Amino acid sequence: MLNLDEKGQTKREPVNDPLLTGVRDKIRDAGERLRKNDLPRLPTWQEHACGTCDVVGLCRTRPSR
Ligand code: SF4
Repeated sequence: MLNLDEKGQTKREPVNDPLLTGVRDKIRDAGERLRKNDLPRLPTWQEHACGTCDVVGLCRTRPSR
């Protein structure tokens, strides 16, 4: 995987059938969830995801530090 983020780590991984099958399954699942509007928010604040989320202002109150 080529990480384009500054200071991001590029991870090399051999592309094989199990990897492709796993990626296909994840993409299919994501598409089905989008079609069904099945997009639950995370149950609790998670700094790694919510802390950098673009829609945090619509989703929840940012915890004070
Ligand atoms: S703030 Fe963003 S990442 Fe966190 S639950 Fe809401 S939508 Fe998901």
